[in-house]
Amino acid sequence: MAAPRQIPFGKPIIGDEEKQAVLEVLGGPILVHGPKAAEFEKAWSAFTKSPFSITMANCTAALHLVYYYLGIKAGDEVIVPAQTHTATAHAVELMQGRPVFVDAEPRTGNIDIDQIERAITPNTRAISLVHYLGMPVDMVRINAIARKHGLKVVEDCALAIGTYLDGVHAGLHGDFGCFSFYPVKHMTTAEGGMITTKDETAAAQLTRQKAFCVDRHMGERKIPGVYDVTGVGFNYRMNEIEAALGIVQLKRIPGFLRARKENYSVIERALRQLPEIELLESTNGRFESSHYCLSAILKKPYAEKRFEIVAELNAAGVGTSVYYPKAVPHLKFYREKYGYSENSFPEAARISNQSIALSVGPHLNAEDMTYMAEAFKQALAKVR
Ligand SMILES: *Cc1c(COP(=O)(O)O)cnc(C)c1O
Repeated sequence: MAAPRQIPFGKPIIGDEEKQAVLEVLGGPILVHGPKAAEFEKAWSAFTKSPFSITMANCTAALHLVYYYLGIKAGDEVIVPAQTHTATAHAVELMQGRPVFVDAEPRTGNIDIDQIERAITPNTRAISLVHYLGMPVDMVRINAIARKHGLKVVEDCALAIGTYLDGVHAGLHGDFGCFSFYPVKHMTTAEGGMITTKDETAAAQLTRQKAFCVDRHMGERKIPGVYDVTGVGFNYRMNEIEAALGIVQLKRIPGFLRARKENYSVIERALRQLPEIELLESTNGRFESSHYCLSAILKKPYAEKRFEIVAELNAAGVGTSVYYPKAVPHLKFYREKYGYSENSFPEAARISNQSIALSVGPHLNAEDMTYMAEAFKQALAKVR
C-alpha cells in the first residue's frame, strides 16, 4: 500500500488572515477587554441573530456563569443529558447543584425528551441539553415542558455552531446558549466561548459577573482605574488575541459548514449500508445537523473489537475520537457520588461504549472521506 494519508481527527484551519489579526493585537496596547471582543460579539450576534452575545473564556465558564447568574444553589436540581461532555454536568456541580441525568434517545443521541418530565421534582430549576454532534434537539417540546414547570432552559451549543431549528440558530430557543471555540469544534479561538441570550437584563448582569462585577467597564471610567464593585464575579473574559482569531474564523464559518456537510454526505453514503454499524440520524426532514462528526456505532459483536478497529484505522493514518468516552453518570466522580450502576442510562452508554467518531472537518476533502471509508471497511474486515 502507498504511504498512508494523514487524516487527523481535528486540525484547526489557521490562515494568514488569522495570523495577521493576532499580530495586530500583539503590536497594540490592548490585550484584554478591548475593541476586538466587542467586534466579535457584534459579529456573533449578526451570525446567529442573537440580540445579545457575550464573549467568554470557554464554554465551561459560560455554563458556570449562567448557573451563577440563575443562583443555582445546594439542593437545586438541573436536568442534564447523560450523553454529553462532562462540562455540562460540572457546571451544575460547581454551584453545589445536582445534575439529574436523563438518558439519550437512540436515533440521535440527544436527550430523550419523553423521559424528562419524570426526572423533574419540586427542586428542579432548569433543563440543560446538548445538540449532540450538531443535531438539533426539539426545542419546541423542551420549551413546552419548561414553561409547564417554570424552569429555565440552558442550551449547551458546544457542537452546535451552524445548527438551526425552524430557521432559528441553536442557543436562541431556550433562555441561554453556551458555545465553545475549543480547537476541534466547528471554529476556534484556541480557548474561547460565547453566551447568547434574548434577555437584556441578564446580558448586562452576565457581562458584569464575568469580570469581577465591577460597576463600569473601561470605556465608562471617568478616571482610569477607578471603579466600584457591586457583587462577586469571576474573571471569565475572552482576551483580544482570541477575539481577533474568532472574528476571522467566523467569516470562514459558511465555508467550514459547507465542507462538513459535503464530507459527511460522502462518508455517510459509503458507510450507511454496512451491516456491522449503525449511524445516528443527521436529518429528520424538519431539521438538520451541522455535522460535527460521523459517529459509527458498532453493533455486537463488533463493539468488543472497537479498539482493534481504532488501531487499524490509526495504522492507516486515520485519526478517530469518541463522543463522549463515557456516559457522564458513569464517570468515576458521578458514579461514586450518586451511586449510578453501569446498567443505568443504557442508550447513552451504548453510544459511548460502542462508537467510533470519524472526522468530517473542513481540513478534509472528498478524497480523504473516500479513503477513510475504505480504511474503515478494511478495518472491519480484519477483525471479522
Ligand atoms: C467541548 C464541550 C464543552 C467544553 O467546552 P470548552 O470550551 O472546552 O469549555 C462543553 N460541552 C460540550 C457538549 C462540549 O462538547
